[in-house]
Amino acid sequence: MSQPHLHLPRHGLLLPRRSRRVFLADLGKGALAALTLPVFAACADDDDPSEDTPTSTPMSTSTVPPAPTEGAAATTEGSPAATEGTPAGTSAGSWERVVLGGVSAYVLLRDGEAAVVDTGNPGSAGDIEAALAGLGVGWESVGHVVLTHAHPDHQGSLPEVLELAPDAMAYCGAGDLGAIVSPRPPTTVVMGDQVFGLDVIETPGHTPGHICVLDRAASVLVAGDALTGAEGGGVAGPNERFTPDMDTAWASVGVLGSYDYETVFFGHGDPVTGGASEAVAALFAEQA
Ligand SMILES: [Zn+2]
Repeated sequence: MSQPHLHLPRHGLLLPRRSRRVFLADLGKGALAALTLPVFAACADDDDPSEDTPTSTPMSTSTVPPAPTEGAAATTEGSPAATEGTPAGTSAGSWERVVLGGVSAYVLLRDGEAAVVDTGNPGSAGDIEAALAGLGVGWESVGHVVLTHAHPDHQGSLPEVLELAPDAMAYCGAGDLGAIVSPRPPTTVVMGDQVFGLDVIETPGHTPGHICVLDRAASVLVAGDALTGAEGGGVAGPNERFTPDMDTAWASVGVLGSYDYETVFFGHGDPVTGGASEAVAALFAEQA
């Protein structure tokens, strides 16, 4: 399946570093041929045609979001007038999707500082570095690394990333802490905590300590594997094959549907870029 982002203008690199937009333009340049294949059990089917794969994705660093479902414009405005609950002075920043085979990591650059959400399988640091470079920064700008959960396709490159970003703090949900391999102990976060202006939402079920982060300034939810991108577009529930506690996971979907955001990023599947929280609420209502 071709990637809709190929249709977008290639002007991403010209955007200012402190762009207030979630910028969606294509930075890929088709350059990165050496892709990282998942090397061990992931939390999604790597043979699932709905997933991004190295063969179907012409570049490992893909800006967000292709949005096949929404037929959307090439950019999504952040909310210059910060939404309710946004810390004063928090700008929307720029989000970058990093497609790492069957899983995605995400990078947020805001006011010259970067956060990385999830790290892919082991060996993914180079692709994350390329995404940072596309935003005009390097590892020294990474202050925060958030793991949505401890599955190996999300935490796998944490040791590499923390070695490359010596000033970065790592964060995870308490319930997953014991399963995370890290050269520096991650800081555990709970409901309502903030990391780099991102609100932590506890979403157990897929794993006991699964968390999502909500960027109110950009109206973006990073859902990890609490939700998945539906094949063909849209929002789907957690993958039951890899979710040991589906009842709790669905309750977490209900929690996610109670917030307000336009865009949702998934660990697996293409982002939804318009009306995302309404779609999540509708998904939960269907399930209930
Ligand atoms: Zn997972």
